[in-house]
Amino acid sequence: MRTKSYDVAIIGLGAMGSAAALSLASRGHTIIGLEQFTPAHALGSSHGESRIIRQAYFEDPSYVPLLRRAYQLWDALEDSTGSLIHVTTGGLFIGPPSAATVTGSILSGRKWHIQHTVLDSAYCQNHFPNFSLLPGDCAVFEPTAGYINPERAIRAQLTVARNRGADLRFNRYVSGWNTDGSGVRIYTSHGTVSAERLVLTAGAWTSKFLGRPVALTVERQVMHWFRPEEPISDFHPPRQPVFIWEDLSGDQIYGFPAKPHASDVKIAFFRRRLACDPDNLDRAIHSAEIDEITRYLSNRLPRLKTHVRATACMYTLSPDGHFVIGIDPEYDQVTLAAGFSGHGFKFAPTVGEIVADLAMNGTTKYDIELFQPTRVFQ
Ligand SMILES: Cc1cc2nc3c(=O)[nH]c(=O)nc-3n(C[C@H](O)[C@H](O)[C@H](O)COP(=O)(O)OP(=O)(O)OC[C@H]3O[C@@H](n4cnc5c(N)ncnc54)[C@H](O)[C@@H]3O)c2cc1C
Repeated sequence: MRTKSYDVAIIGLGAMGSAAALSLASRGHTIIGLEQFTPAHALGSSHGESRIIRQAYFEDPSYVPLLRRAYQLWDALEDSTGSLIHVTTGGLFIGPPSAATVTGSILSGRKWHIQHTVLDSAYCQNHFPNFSLLPGDCAVFEPTAGYINPERAIRAQLTVARNRGADLRFNRYVSGWNTDGSGVRIYTSHGTVSAERLVLTAGAWTSKFLGRPVALTVERQVMHWFRPEEPISDFHPPRQPVFIWEDLSGDQIYGFPAKPHASDVKIAFFRRRLACDPDNLDRAIHSAEIDEITRYLSNRLPRLKTHVRATACMYTLSPDGHFVIGIDPEYDQVTLAAGFSGHGFKFAPTVGEIVADLAMNGTTKYDIELFQPTRVFQ
């Protein structure tokens, strides 16, 4: 490990760390990125071949400007690397008319003039026959929704960051850090690194680096792949867009179309509330959880009967489900981006810009009022 001091050290090169590396390197800063595993690995929160991206954001309308910027940046990344990262499929956001998935999508859609249409269950039955809506259900259709390929996206961000001078180290476990005058020292499996600033994008492992109690909870979530009944072409867009479907209890499932040349479709519950430790995640898939989702789909997407594979992933949840992005209230050398609460991936390149703004200038032009870190420190 070199002894030189960097402008910025980044702990964690997953979705957000690789985006921050790209943004900081593009601005000409000297940076080092430290990652315990390999590029685009499957042991954190950013694997599984697809992540929904959409604009009529039901979680809160204030996310929309960040999303618009993310769309621009994903497409620019695709252009500069030639990698197919972003696929537009349209999106269906389904539920009873009072469901937050429906009302929140309409609210953001209206507020920001995002193209969207509210459909009744009979219309959906005709145009999206894979979905069996309950008679009272409705859906918001957003044509600009689609998905991002997370592994390709992270690899592309790392490649461009490296091309722009970022020093990226993999299989480098970080055991801790402390302040060093006005800068920071970071302790790794391969020596010590010095930097003026620290960016903490350690995903599910973030609380280990904060040195004090923090209200972030890590949960295990399982993604499942089903082989649809033939013909598979029925499961391609436009008949099968990405979707999020809320039921009467407030539970959501979400899913994707079949990818070109693939014979399976990915579906998952949004949340199963199983707290876990990121270093001891139960990666086995249990027959009870396969049975649960197969049963759940039987009267909603009845042509998905055959379960083919599954994998576990982790969410890092903040108490209110909003992100945690900002300067650490105790250490002004440290910028934190965590607590993405199961919906952060689509924002990664915008988060990279925000983190670069905060780390180097202490402020950003984006509205990040919802994301204040003071919320999670007791
Ligand atoms: C099943 C599932 C489905 C999802 N679906 C969607 C979706 O459809 N749309 C969407 O927008 N979002 C979705 N998300 C959420 C999104 O994927 C996450 O918000 C995002 O990937 C989080 O990125 P991150 O950079 O914080 O974490 P990660 O990508 O996990 O990166 C953190 C990195 O820090 C590294 N690290 C940790 N500790 C150390 C250490 N000691 N030393 C060195 N390196 C370390 C880790 O190895 C890891 O690579 C989903 C998440 C899951 C799990």
